[in-house]
Amino acid sequence: MAKPARKIARDRGASLRFWGVRGSTPTVDKDTWRYGGNTACVELITPAGARVILDCGTGLRMLGRHLDATLESERIESHIFVTHYHWDHIQGLPFFSPLYEEQNLLHFYSFRSEYLGADSLKRVFEAQMAYPYFPVNLSAMAAQREFTEMNGGAGVRVPGARVTARWLHHPQGCLGFRFETDAGTIVYATDNEPGNPQLDQSMRELAAGADIFINDAQFRPEELATTRKGWGHSSWLEGVKIAREVGVKNLVLFHHDPDSADKVVDSLLRDARGHFPNVWAAAEGMTMTLGDEHLDVVMPSVRQGLRRDANFRARVTGLTDSGHVFEEETVISDLTFHGALIHLGHCPKLQSELQVQLDNPGIGGTSNSPLRLRGYVVRIEPDPDKEHTAVGIVFTE
Ligand SMILES: [Zn+2]
Ligand SMILES: [Zn+2]
Repeated sequence: MAKPARKIARDRGASLRFWGVRGSTPTVDKDTWRYGGNTACVELITPAGARVILDCGTGLRMLGRHLDATLESERIESHIFVTHYHWDHIQGLPFFSPLYEEQNLLHFYSFRSEYLGADSLKRVFEAQMAYPYFPVNLSAMAAQREFTEMNGGAGVRVPGARVTARWLHHPQGCLGFRFETDAGTIVYATDNEPGNPQLDQSMRELAAGADIFINDAQFRPEELATTRKGWGHSSWLEGVKIAREVGVKNLVLFHHDPDSADKVVDSLLRDARGHFPNVWAAAEGMTMTLGDEHLDVVMPSVRQGLRRDANFRARVTGLTDSGHVFEEETVISDLTFHGALIHLGHCPKLQSELQVQLDNPGIGGTSNSPLRLRGYVVRIEPDPDKEHTAVGIVFTE
């Protein structure tokens, strides 16, 4: 028999976890792995231990797997707020495993769309799972589902949070949500284009004094002013303006463009920090915990990398927390290996394995044992030096 739903203890803090941060469509390009390719889905645990889910993009599937793995047979109860019905905010629904377990209770909140009519979100479920778009019939979704309609200005309570909704400026409508908790205020406002005076004001009221303000930052400011004008999205610059005007403490750039490689998101974040210090770029797996007047941000561990102990000398330059440039010599003691380009006199077979042994220079004359790695050949190219071949390898072991 299933165990009752468990309250999640969080020492009266409020914690956020990002399961999908991408806008428009998921991406699996390797250049987007670091921030992640799943579409919008954020989990909020309130100080009372209630689980809130913001949007149901493809990140929702990962959250479902996580709940299955951590809660085992416990009953799952969640409050799920859907901002609007574009694909990138609903596509994870048919793949959310807790929907298929009878014992679970899921409360959904969203608005009545003029295109879908009454029970809009129910219509979405029916449409997504209609033949021939999905192999499983809707009747397989055995979880108890409750639907609440919300409009701009509406408010509801969930355990540990007072929730208010406001309309945002986006094609076919979109809601932003504000969660006021004992640990602080979190505002989730994605899919919004600035430029409508009434809705711009509404956005400011929604964001006023927020500890964490999650905002659409899909485009560069110059794109938003030209080629992407009218597409329904925003930029880091608009987020920074709002943050400054209404006393937001931390701004999170969200809804990254699927064509923005990690390096592009890095540059947007750098630009934003030049104008407002407390900016973060949402990344899959990133957690933010509010409590005791401070915010803890933890980044996910680097995806899939082999680790070897090492003692490589290195010179490091960077920026301190307070924005000062520093430079220092150090020793790299733990290095992650993804791959390498090596130059060989032989030509190994593509998709074959290579054993690679790296010298580990050590410090102060002490010699370390060499690093032994197994590589898999993914690329063979002519080398500028005619005697050699350039061999691209990915380390597997
Ligand atoms: Zn979107
Ligand atoms: Zn949208």
